[in-house]
Amino acid sequence: AIPLVIALSTALSARAGILVKDRIALERMRTVDAVLFDKTGTLTKGAHTVKGVAAVTGMSEDDVLRVAGAVESDSEHPLARALVTVARDRGLPARATDFRSLTGRGVQATVDGTAYAVGGPALLRDLDVTVPQELAGAERNWSARGAAVLHLLRLSEGAPPAVIGAFALEDEVRPEAREAVAELRRHGVRKIAMITGDARPVAEAVAADLGFRAGVDEVFAEVLPADKDRAVADLQAQGLTVAMVGDGVNDAPALARADVGLAIGAGTDVAIESAGVILASSDPRGVLAVIRLSQASYRKMV
Ligand code: ADP
Ligand code: MG
Repeated sequence: AIPLVIALSTALSARAGILVKDRIALERMRTVDAVLFDKTGTLTKGAHTVKGVAAVTGMSEDDVLRVAGAVESDSEHPLARALVTVARDRGLPARATDFRSLTGRGVQATVDGTAYAVGGPALLRDLDVTVPQELAGAERNWSARGAAVLHLLRLSEGAPPAVIGAFALEDEVRPEAREAVAELRRHGVRKIAMITGDARPVAEAVAADLGFRAGVDEVFAEVLPADKDRAVADLQAQGLTVAMVGDGVNDAPALARADVGLAIGAGTDVAIESAGVILASSDPRGVLAVIRLSQASYRKMV
């Protein structure tokens, strides 16, 4: 019966856009009781737009957008693309040199002879910089709305780094992600979890939008790339069999540690390599399709 089952599941999976790299992973999928999703690009569209700009006294919105756009011009991060796009759309050209990526924190570059950095909360924590009073109010409003907040810092020699601008970026939840969460739950998955490098208020706003249940589902926020696999370990320590869904280079260790690693959509090569199952589309409802495939394939074999 085994060849028939495998033939059947292969045909089924090909139709559903599911590529099984590791049969053991597929078999485990039918007993999964927690699904951990990487937020950006998996549960959300991963395409941000700039929804707010603030600058300190002496700088205009265009000044800070111009510099930030230049600093980000070498970065592939979706947050970076949004800043580059708005600077270009507003006709604010600037050139930057000496690009450096500050992994999980932001980027740095030199514009007009001065070094600047653009990054999120982890960057401020690392540099031990606080947000000036005149920007703090706008930032609180943005965060409460669920926007990601990025900062532009001036890194002058001989002076402490200073925040000179701030940006609100919003990423939309995929409508299919809401359905995916509801369907997984209906199917008996006990816990839905989300992991992100974004600030906690941003992550919580997305979780609420997706219908996460307080006290049952779980949000891992402000997680550095190197620590993403610890969330998997944390869930496993709760006695849960964990499927992790991700697409990025950052997600590879977590995908490898999970009981089932699922790489989604146009995932990076590293993610694909670390995953046991690959979903051709970036539709998160594909996770339930894999559970169903696992149940259909292995039911009769135990
Ligand atoms: P995620 O996939 O959750 O975005 P990353 O590790 O790629 O995780 O990024 C973590 C955080 O670091 C981001 O949420 C952002 O605050 C900051 N960051 C990373 N890259 C950039 C960048 N190019 N520009 C600004 N901020 C960045
Ligand atoms: Mg990501």
